[in-house]
Amino acid sequence: MRTEVRILVRSDRMPGGPRALLGSVGCGPDVVQVREDAIFTIVTLDERDERLPRLVQLLTERGISWLEGRHDRFTDDELEAAPLLIMSYDVNARVFGGPRVGTTYDMSEACERCGAGARQTSAMIIDGEDLHKLEGRRAATTPYDDVLVDEKLAAVLAASGATGLSFRGVFAAFEKRGHIQLPWRQLCATHTMPPMSPRSTGIVPDDLCSCRRSGFDTPSEIPTRLVYRAADFTEIRDVNVTWEWFGDTHYEGDVGDALFAYPRFLVTPKVRCIFLDAGVTGFDWLPIRVVED
Ligand SMILES: [Zn+2]
Repeated sequence: MRTEVRILVRSDRMPGGPRALLGSVGCGPDVVQVREDAIFTIVTLDERDERLPRLVQLLTERGISWLEGRHDRFTDDELEAAPLLIMSYDVNARVFGGPRVGTTYDMSEACERCGAGARQTSAMIIDGEDLHKLEGRRAATTPYDDVLVDEKLAAVLAASGATGLSFRGVFAAFEKRGHIQLPWRQLCATHTMPPMSPRSTGIVPDDLCSCRRSGFDTPSEIPTRLVYRAADFTEIRDVNVTWEWFGDTHYEGDVGDALFAYPRFLVTPKVRCIFLDAGVTGFDWLPIRVVED
């Protein structure tokens, strides 16, 4: 595992242009991404790269502000050996679906304040306007991390013996034509993990709800490291969701107007392998960590 640091600087803030300024601290085309039309120049460096402190010093001295992101990167062998992987999809390719499009939820055991614990009771309804985003794809997600797979991939998953999964139908909602069933399935997790270990990093209580399940911030400058205790793994399945729900919430009692936070999807390397064999790209796979207590 290595940690990658991405520094974003506004191109027009660099006197003499990004190439000249960044080149002065040894940051060349191997680590600098400059697009002439883009507002930001991106420098990607390993956390241990000696150019990183020099770059930060240069920007500080010149009074140039920057944004920083830190992400852990893993080899295939490390991903294969992970107990569970957080599976997250390219945010630009998501299809809109969920409560505001007509998907229904049982709120009887959900938090009254934030809606965490809402239990889906219908098929997944997605916005018909987003249907084109599924073309040529075998998997996708909604903004709530609901995982959608085409029906052939759903059949492979069902036949694989993978545990802890169930499927729901997927419908597209059109304003005039009503609902049309799609040859897709929603992949659902039957098992919810226990609360994460407080040793997790990059998942920071921000506006924590009284239920303690939502209201986390995930600041980009700290790598997200979701940690569980060894004892939390006794009940795991191949497909699981976190107890914590992430993202913004807006819930005043009307599901049709709700913005729910959502749990993260955690799968074993076996499930990742099935997705990769199906030619699915677009997912990031981030290993969770285990501590003894
Ligand atoms: Zn709550």
